[in-house]
Amino acid sequence: MINNNFQITKNKENQFILEINEKSFLVGEVVYMILSRIKKSISEDEIVDDIKGIKGYENFTILKLHQFLENEITPLFNSQLNDSKNPVKKIFTVIKPEKHLNYFSFLIKLFHLNFFWTAFIFQLVISSLFIYKNLSFYNQMAEFKIEWFFSFFFLVFIMLIHELGHVVASLKFKIIPKEIGFGFYFIYPALYTNLTQIWKLNKFEKVIVNLGGIYFQLFINLILIGLFYWLNDYKNLLFLFFTINFGIILFNLNPFFKFDGYWVFSDVLKIPNLRAKANAYLVSLIKLNGSRKNEIVIVKVYAVLYFVFMLFIWCLITKYIVLNFDIFFKRIKTFHSIKNNLDYLLGYVITLILAFRIVYGFVFSYYKIRKNDKRN
Ligand SMILES: [Zn+2]
Repeated sequence: MINNNFQITKNKENQFILEINEKSFLVGEVVYMILSRIKKSISEDEIVDDIKGIKGYENFTILKLHQFLENEITPLFNSQLNDSKNPVKKIFTVIKPEKHLNYFSFLIKLFHLNFFWTAFIFQLVISSLFIYKNLSFYNQMAEFKIEWFFSFFFLVFIMLIHELGHVVASLKFKIIPKEIGFGFYFIYPALYTNLTQIWKLNKFEKVIVNLGGIYFQLFINLILIGLFYWLNDYKNLLFLFFTINFGIILFNLNPFFKFDGYWVFSDVLKIPNLRAKANAYLVSLIKLNGSRKNEIVIVKVYAVLYFVFMLFIWCLITKYIVLNFDIFFKRIKTFHSIKNNLDYLLGYVITLILAFRIVYGFVFSYYKIRKNDKRN
């Protein structure tokens, strides 16, 4: 049911945004007109009169208003199938940025628009050149021991720097994030920044806020490269740190996972709910009796590439599981062998969990879309 716990606003790009329970939706003009009037407790008769002023709605009636509320608006309030900005399941709050604004504010200068784009592209090029020039280091990485131990702490540090980047970028556009929190994405522990008000920004502002985390990580890369050429004794450790940081950056830019790259992609193309649309399109392709869903070309292309990409990942995982099946069971036979192969066994178990989680996610979203189809 529609309660009064919502915000309905118009952003700088004349899009209408509905915020309910910390989730945001792009809605049409009619929904905007109805909800902004409900919020002000304007009577149904007056709402109907106002709607009649919109082209194509001249014959609007109270009955149609009730139907509209039931079919178009109530589902938004009960929505299960939405493109939540925050796919991380929250466990606890790490920092409330509003309490520490003074500490961050000097960093806002880094988001001066011309400087931002120049520095972003320059650093991406420098990082790529560095990898290219030092490829031979990858052959030595299997021999790293103590370095892997330090990399855990570095990983935590990087995650914090990344979120700080989002926070400072949003402060640049006068949005104060609710919190930096810790939670789980898929099966992985992760940090996130709660940016429910990001919908108020225009397209390019949104893109910069979404790239803010990667931007800060690129500065870390630059520092690591400097140290790499300066400190001869720590080359292995610094190269490992660089690889981890750059790996996370590339992973984040990939538009097929729901990380920063996905949001940039869907903002640049101005397609909200891109993933949900792609999923619905893919499901309509494999349904035997149903009709094919009509979508704009870019959603179809994204959907197909997404499917191919996930299939590729799935094949890699399956291949790994099958090829290592024998070895895994040989190594868990004795305690001694378990103790000596802990890293290998842990890797195998995590891969197994990941495989099950992907199958579960696929089956779950298939049924969710089917259920939604039946309701409509
Ligand atoms: Zn991010």
